[in-house]
Amino acid sequence: MRTALILFFAAACLAAAKGYDAGVAKLEITPKQNMWMSGYGARTKPSTGVLQPLWVKSLAIRDERRNTFVIVTTDLVGLPKEITDAISARVQKEYNISRANLLFNASHTHTGPFVKANLSTLFSFTPEAQRQVDEYAQELSDTMFNAIGASLARMEAVDLTFGTGTAGFAVNRRQKMADGTFKIGVNPTGPIDHSVPVLKVVSKRSTKTLAILTGYACHNTTLTGEFYEFSGDYAGFAQSEIEATNPGAVALFLILCGADQNPNPRSSVALAKKHGKELADAVQAVLDGNPMKPIEGPITAALEMAKLTFAIHTRETFEKELTSTIPSQVRRAKMMLAKYDERAPIRSILYPVQAVSFGKSLTFLTLGGEVVIDYSIRAKREFPKVNLVVVGYSNDMPGYIPSKRVLLEGGYEAVDSQIYYGQPGPYSEDVEELIFAAVRRVMKRVSSN
Ligand SMILES: [Zn+2]
Repeated sequence: MRTALILFFAAACLAAAKGYDAGVAKLEITPKQNMWMSGYGARTKPSTGVLQPLWVKSLAIRDERRNTFVIVTTDLVGLPKEITDAISARVQKEYNISRANLLFNASHTHTGPFVKANLSTLFSFTPEAQRQVDEYAQELSDTMFNAIGASLARMEAVDLTFGTGTAGFAVNRRQKMADGTFKIGVNPTGPIDHSVPVLKVVSKRSTKTLAILTGYACHNTTLTGEFYEFSGDYAGFAQSEIEATNPGAVALFLILCGADQNPNPRSSVALAKKHGKELADAVQAVLDGNPMKPIEGPITAALEMAKLTFAIHTRETFEKELTSTIPSQVRRAKMMLAKYDERAPIRSILYPVQAVSFGKSLTFLTLGGEVVIDYSIRAKREFPKVNLVVVGYSNDMPGYIPSKRVLLEGGYEAVDSQIYYGQPGPYSEDVEELIFAAVRRVMKRVSSN
């Protein structure tokens, strides 16, 4: 008996002695019935069908100290903290994994369902439509929790390798007009980051590829407001293409800092498929090319809620907006005036900044909301030695996150988009420095091991 126990203990130590364990799971989150879609305020009716199923995918990776990092990706427009916090609390309770070790990302498809508490002023729903939105949010939350559980239940010994490719269909969309203002268009000389990170997860036992995680810094908006069928847009087509080329593997997509980047050209299903194929081909070139770099070292995670402040506003700002011809702007004004009535006008938000490192071989830096490309470029410049993947649209969706440059230039990403997120207006000019101060702190906390 004693020998058996010692042997068992020795075997358990051996199993956890070296490298990583990982598990992956995917569950469908396509709404069971037609409902309102998100992303475009000009839509006038609920969805009419399904072009492509939508998925939540969970990749759980555990190091030899039994520290676990879970990456959850979704074919959705955005995941507000109302949803991610509730799931995180359940995961903490059930699996003892802390909030800092969970990464939630939404691909920002604009042909997905309306997600409760995201883009709150986009529409005014009938009671029936609101009921559907509420029910979908509850089902989504349960399915995401179940996907995390399924990935944790499938842990096995794996090898992790990493490489980077490129895909060229993203273009900077902040087009400068003759009068000096910026409109959403095409700016071929504006900043971009075309890199395509690829993390491969291979079973040690079967040598089969279990998961392929990729990402791209580009709005997931090939399909414009006149499309009424659910789909994951280019990111959805890229994932299904990667899975078709690599049978048995689950493909996961993280949207990076693509807030001021659009697919080019846009506006047809054929183009969404074409961009998806280009991204999948870039991933496959990395998988088939030079040997990918082994990932090694302990997993260390840090999460900070940084306080971001808004530019000064007054009650009069919103009283004037009540006469706007834009319905969302009137809804935003009413929300803000209600806050003034409560003597609690919104002056700031708490903003998630997260870093997760695998020793010195790979670091994910994740930021909430729609993050412009300047953050990716600057973070890679500030941290050149840690193989950085800078991920946007993560953990919460407070709206667009402009850099100081974009904020001062103005336009949709700086000012107008705040209306649709129910925020009081543009950020104060220190927004980029406040975020980078938090970035430096979380990066420091994950770089000591
Ligand atoms: Zn967007």
